Amino acid sequence: MIPAAFEYYRPTDMAGVLAVLEEHGDDARVIAGGHSLIPMMKLRMADVPHLIDLQDVDGLSGINVESDRVIIGAMTTQHDIIVNDSLAAAAPIMREASLQIADPQVRYMGTVGGNVANGDPGNDMPGLMQCLDATFTLVGPDGERTVAARDFYEAAYMTDREDDEVLTAVSFAAPKGGYAYEKQKRKIGDYATAAAAVLITKTDGACAAASIAMTNLSDTPIWSEAAAEALVGTSLDNAAIAAAVAAMLGDIDPTDDNRGPVEFKRHAATIILRRAIETAWSRA
Ligand code: FAD
Repeated sequence: MIPAAFEYYRPTDMAGVLAVLEEHGDDARVIAGGHSLIPMMKLRMADVPHLIDLQDVDGLSGINVESDRVIIGAMTTQHDIIVNDSLAAAAPIMREASLQIADPQVRYMGTVGGNVANGDPGNDMPGLMQCLDATFTLVGPDGERTVAARDFYEAAYMTDREDDEVLTAVSFAAPKGGYAYEKQKRKIGDYATAAAAVLITKTDGACAAASIAMTNLSDTPIWSEAAAEALVGTSLDNAAIAAAVAAMLGDIDPTDDNRGPVEFKRHAATIILRRAIETAWSRA
């Protein structure tokens, strides 16, 4: 498995990245941790004649937790997320989810920017970002713009990002209340068969607000507004959880593949969401 020949660029600032993107258009792509792109190039599923390495570009890494708002630079690795105690205090679901991605070797290299920009339905961060109602910052030839994670994903590997734009950061309000990230996978290091991100706040014994997103159960992550609404105002009795699970099943659209047939995936989604809701509620 050897990739096709490519030109390698290593700019030190964003202007240098954008210049190569502008010059080569579709033939150029950025590389972050390389743990999705390099395998695709080796398998000849991606042909990238001009490869722009982001690792020396200033200002793309780091985690800032400032007055309840979290900003994470695109080149921040999954390992950086796991070991950051202020992030774990502000948004513990980030550590819980990151620990379930792949294995330590991948997490040392895989970045949050690569994970959310890739558009792979199997990636864990896109659903997590939708659950957190995160915003993505993109920079391109016309300057900077922001997009809600809930509006970013269009189809498998298709996002709202233009070919000449680079994702520079993700940001979100530090979540309140209980949280859980639950994932069913075939073995350690695997992508999800089904995963659920859940946030719940509780007031006077009732659910005041909820957010639910599912991973690898459609060609995009699924933020299920209907599932969350089924919980709000209830004390999360069995009927409310069953209604939330039924609403989620109405929103997902899994397909048969080597992780199992559709009926198995719907069953896995049911179990995983129920577990995530119960855990989030117990922590709320
Ligand atoms: P790269 O591979 O460098 O890039 C991926 C794509 O995103 C490319 O198209 C690239 O051009 C684009 N891109 C990267 N950064 C930017 C940016 N800043 N702006 C615009 N475009 C950008 N992931 C999971 O979520 N869950 C798993 O369980 C999981 N298991 C894995 C198991 C294995 C064995 C491996 C090899 C990978 C696994 N991954 C998993 C994927 C891993 O987390 C990847 O590293 C991650 O998805 C992509 O991040 P990256 O930094 O490596 O991106």
